[in-house]
Amino acid sequence: MQAYARLIATCLDEHYALATGTGAMALLRPIGWMRIFSRPETLAAALEQAETARRDYGIGFAALDGKALAAAEPSLLVERAGAIHWTDPVSVSDPHTLTLAYAGMFTAEGGRFAIGDATTLRRAGAGWQVQTEAGPVEAAEVVVALGAAAGQVTGPLGYAPPIFGKRGYHMHYGLRGNAVLHRPILDTESGFLLAPMRAGIRLTTGAEFARTDAPPTPVQLERAEPVARSLLPLADRVESTPWMGVRPCTPDMLPIIGPLPGQPGAWCAFGHAHQGLTLGPTTGRLLAEMMTGETPFVSPEPYRAERF
Ligand SMILES: Cc1cc2nc3c(=O)[nH]c(=O)nc-3n(C[C@H](O)[C@H](O)[C@H](O)COP(=O)(O)OP(=O)(O)OC[C@H]3O[C@@H](n4cnc5c(N)ncnc54)[C@H](O)[C@@H]3O)c2cc1C
Repeated sequence: MQAYARLIATCLDEHYALATGTGAMALLRPIGWMRIFSRPETLAAALEQAETARRDYGIGFAALDGKALAAAEPSLLVERAGAIHWTDPVSVSDPHTLTLAYAGMFTAEGGRFAIGDATTLRRAGAGWQVQTEAGPVEAAEVVVALGAAAGQVTGPLGYAPPIFGKRGYHMHYGLRGNAVLHRPILDTESGFLLAPMRAGIRLTTGAEFARTDAPPTPVQLERAEPVARSLLPLADRVESTPWMGVRPCTPDMLPIIGPLPGQPGAWCAFGHAHQGLTLGPTTGRLLAEMMTGETPFVSPEPYRAERF
């Protein structure tokens, strides 16, 4: 937990270091998020944990009873026992646009994108070569950042990380009338999240375990939708099919960041599980400092590939 906390503690600073002074700032909203509870005893137990988190890790929160929750989110259709409002996190209203903004910064500074199959990566002299639509690309160093597919490239190079995917789905909805949702809410007992996004109210499901090539089965979404509709006056679905993504997880739920074992000039940056968007800039900085021989701003030891 401590090894994870050291990374997470930097995530806002690292995002702001990229986004400050650019259009991307409008996508980062300092509104936190809420866990809402139906049962008073579940709320009480969670509040005790929250106190521990505040004491040990300095995590900020506000406790809301049922009345305060109704005042904070007046469009909720049912009364709940209360909520924990985690006040520190920033909510991203459009992760895709944020990623495109960061990609734009990369190309503006002379970076170049080439699309290709990363499994074509081979040693070429002292460096590396990969095949792309624009022809072969060579480089002295290479970073494998392929999420759950990382093992397809590192496996043939002698490193088979125990990555597994936790799938998840989301769908956007309109809101009826003048209803509003001010911040993301996690309905603790039902296990889904509702978040106000640019595209609408996003309903996101929990974890689904499936084989990599299995077709999408958005069962959780179908089950969560009626419960979500009883919570908030959702209008029609915005998209015709749900989005599906994969959270690339490791058994200790820490990412793999650092040198690829036995392959000088090759680096790992994968396994960010539930928080790859949150940690992208942090991992980028840590890896850049390791690659250029600077003193890393946090010890990379807990994230080294050799632990598996
Ligand atoms: C439902 C859901 C909700 C989430 N919510 C959050 C959240 O609130 N906050 C947060 O921080 N994170 C969240 N995540 C997690 C986040 O999406 C992941 O941690 C993140 O996407 C991992 O980033 P990545 O770049 O390592 O891998 P990916 O995003 O999986 O990207 C890997 C890329 O590699 C490409 N690729 C694969 N094989 C090859 C190949 N052979 N050649 C070339 N390219 C290849 C893939 O096409 C893909 O584009 C959520 C995930 C899900 C599923």
